[in-house]
Amino acid sequence: MKDYNIIIIGAGASGVFASYEFTKLKSNLKILMIDKGNPLEKRICPIKIGKVDKCINCNPCNIMNGYGGAGTLSDGKYNITNSFGGDLHAYLGKDKAIELMEYVDEVLCEFDGGNSKLYTTSNSNLKTTALRHDLHLLDAKVRHFGTDRNMKILKKMYDFSKENIEMQFNTFCTDINYFEDENKYEVVTSNENYKCDKVILCSGRSGSKWMSEICNKFNIKLESNQVDIGVRVELPAEVFKHITDVVYESKIVYQTKLYNDLIRTFCMNPYGQVVSENTNGIITVNGHSYSDKKLQSENTNFALLVTNCFTEPFKDSNEYGESVAKLSNMLGGGIILQRFGDLIKGRRSSDRRMKKCFTRPTLKATPGDLSLVIPKRQMDSIIEMIYALDKIAPGTANEDTLLYGVEVKFYNSKVKVDSNFQTDKKGLFVVGDGGGVTHSLSQASASGVYVARYLTSLF
Ligand SMILES: Cc1cc2nc3c(=O)[nH]c(=O)nc-3n(C[C@H](O)[C@H](O)[C@H](O)COP(=O)(O)OP(=O)(O)OC[C@H]3O[C@@H](n4cnc5c(N)ncnc54)[C@H](O)[C@@H]3O)c2cc1C
Repeated sequence: MKDYNIIIIGAGASGVFASYEFTKLKSNLKILMIDKGNPLEKRICPIKIGKVDKCINCNPCNIMNGYGGAGTLSDGKYNITNSFGGDLHAYLGKDKAIELMEYVDEVLCEFDGGNSKLYTTSNSNLKTTALRHDLHLLDAKVRHFGTDRNMKILKKMYDFSKENIEMQFNTFCTDINYFEDENKYEVVTSNENYKCDKVILCSGRSGSKWMSEICNKFNIKLESNQVDIGVRVELPAEVFKHITDVVYESKIVYQTKLYNDLIRTFCMNPYGQVVSENTNGIITVNGHSYSDKKLQSENTNFALLVTNCFTEPFKDSNEYGESVAKLSNMLGGGIILQRFGDLIKGRRSSDRRMKKCFTRPTLKATPGDLSLVIPKRQMDSIIEMIYALDKIAPGTANEDTLLYGVEVKFYNSKVKVDSNFQTDKKGLFVVGDGGGVTHSLSQASASGVYVARYLTSLF
């Protein structure tokens, strides 16, 4: 059995940045990185190249798995902030968390070689304007690379690390065993098994169920988290232009008057595309955009998500989110699309109504009725938020504003780790979204850098 110092499971943002940092530090450690998905060049979604209209459940899904993880075909938006995108600061302190996110930004910009713009909320008066309407704009610096540049950066990061880090794709890690007598781990995969001193689990959102199994096996404590449910909104880019030109991505939080529930905008993509994604066989909606103007659309899209936290005896918040998404998959064969005007009038959208719609959808989805899918409480909150946003971005509540459902933000259960991201099982580390600590590219990448530095200092 091949023996390594470290095995990294998952080549997403956290795994890629850990492998970058190990290489940069010239650690001379024998390291293997495994991913169940494809290498970068083979990560092609059949919908994107027009082979199929709808998600055909590729296994593994090229949007979620493979080199670069869920971030590869994303919008490449890196938010440098402690206000959202994870709780890294709770483990490392606010200054250290920001310092690591700034470092990730420097590395990306170096590989990018371009002059990508850093947007910031601090030099705009949008916060004041939003507050006047009880909308709360969160502070952040945002670097946007776009899907196209993001891929190029990842290719360069791969080339930088490949001589030092052994990488295996299309390799599913199925189990981990611990040999007490040798103080070694055995990583069991779909190809062969390997031994190592330390394991870094970077298995992201798509590895959430497997992560729970591993934690249960080693008696590592897991805490159930929240689930956010909502829709993706798509409207003409002009409606949000005065905001997106200044801050690119605006994270706006609102407390509904009806239920006092928190609802927020999320993942804003000016001139972007709406896409479907497949997590463990469940099709949900997402969005991204390109920096190359030729690939851009005439629309802006963003998610509106209602936060749902449950109390005892209910424990599986993700199961709740999955059940709502499954309803839309059952009724619409995937994603359901509805005009805001139709929703308000209590009628479904149909092919006939969509033909007259001025806003052209960027994702082929089934026209239907989202009120048959999304529970009343969340739907009421979404409608209230759309009218609130209409005050700072008039046109948001137009009849032809498109709503795609369901968008679900699953949060992995929070894995109990110490301030070095080590679990109670010594030698087993968990970083990135897989541990429920981070929920974003910047924070997942920063956690990978941190653990690589820490482990290099141990050997
Ligand atoms: C379409 C889309 C757009 C997004 N856009 C943005 C954005 O613009 N900005 C932002 O901040 N965030 C965005 N996100 C979220 C962001 O991608 C994640 O926060 C980030 O990728 C998390 O990194 P990670 O390393 O923790 O996990 P991931 O990137 O999910 O990587 C985990 C990797 O582990 C592998 N894996 C899992 N289980 C196993 C196993 N058992 N064996 C082997 N390999 C395994 C998977 O194949 C995957 O490649 C987006 C997500 C999606 C899906």
